[in-house]
Amino acid sequence: MDFIGKYEVFGSVRCWMYSVEWQKRGLPHAHILIWLYNKITSDEIDDVISAEIPRADVDKDLHAVIIKNMIHGPCGTLNPNSPCMVDGKCSKKYPRAFTANTITGDDGYPKYRRRSTEDGGNSVAVHMQNGVIEVDIRWVVPYSPLLSKTYRVHINVEYCNSVKSIKYISKYVNKGSDMAVFGVQPENSDRNAVQVIDEIAQYQAGRYISSNEAAWRIFSFPMHERNPAVIHLSIHLENGQRVYFTDENVLQRAFNPPSTTLTAFFTLCQEDAFARTLLYSELPSYYTWNETKKVFKRRRRGKPVDGQPGIFRENTIGRLYKCILIRMNVSIFACCWLMCLVLDLSMS
Ligand SMILES: [Zn+2]
Repeated sequence: MDFIGKYEVFGSVRCWMYSVEWQKRGLPHAHILIWLYNKITSDEIDDVISAEIPRADVDKDLHAVIIKNMIHGPCGTLNPNSPCMVDGKCSKKYPRAFTANTITGDDGYPKYRRRSTEDGGNSVAVHMQNGVIEVDIRWVVPYSPLLSKTYRVHINVEYCNSVKSIKYISKYVNKGSDMAVFGVQPENSDRNAVQVIDEIAQYQAGRYISSNEAAWRIFSFPMHERNPAVIHLSIHLENGQRVYFTDENVLQRAFNPPSTTLTAFFTLCQEDAFARTLLYSELPSYYTWNETKKVFKRRRRGKPVDGQPGIFRENTIGRLYKCILIRMNVSIFACCWLMCLVLDLSMS
């Protein structure tokens, strides 16, 4: 992430996010999304992403990495038992068609340039279990020459301009590994008898973690990160915030409820002249929220703000629910507010 986000090898990065998934045999696999300030235009795609076999006489190193890591299958008639085969077809749509030039659309992934052997494309002999086969450009998984040569592993890189890709990578955070649970019964057992269910065993069987994932979690390595950070700002009517209390602290909570980000913003504005110049949603860029003390504190790191000594700015984003206050009966207000919540959720 430093290579892309800090050293900006693809240009200035506006935001990034990734999540780690565990594959069938337990190896970690990161899905990464990057937004660039200067979007890659259709004529620049070929400079960043390739789906062709590099010529060995031009770049021997890259040629070796691509042949080893970025050739799909082969599957289909060449290898019907490949794991990608579903109902006699490759589920990843390989081999892809030859394409003289990269073609982009409004949605989804572009069709990358894959030149036929007559058109200057390359092919290579690959050793398989049942002999040597000639593999051409139709089997290459799109890659970035820079990333492939730097890390020398399988890195599939795609250009995308659809919000669907964000949903796609976010699902891996909660997906969990594939698993199957089955029981064995003696043949002569009475099927009508009341079955004794071992709830403890069922609970323990409820989640499967591979040894690699277990080690990853024990070391507290991150599973999911994103930049910039998004801070949720609460919004409520006066004395309308949610308050948690017990029998013991009910009085204390009633007389002195804990601050919310909204009430803390009002308090801050009484004593901090700079805070008074900001909108509520802009606050997280200049102040950090202390969840324990329930106060906003000025940032000590970030970009110094011109003409404002002691003020620093980060690219943190403040998010709040949209509200429409309608002075009618309560049920309509509640209904409108709920609609706003639903709208906001679906937009995010
Ligand atoms: Zn396949």
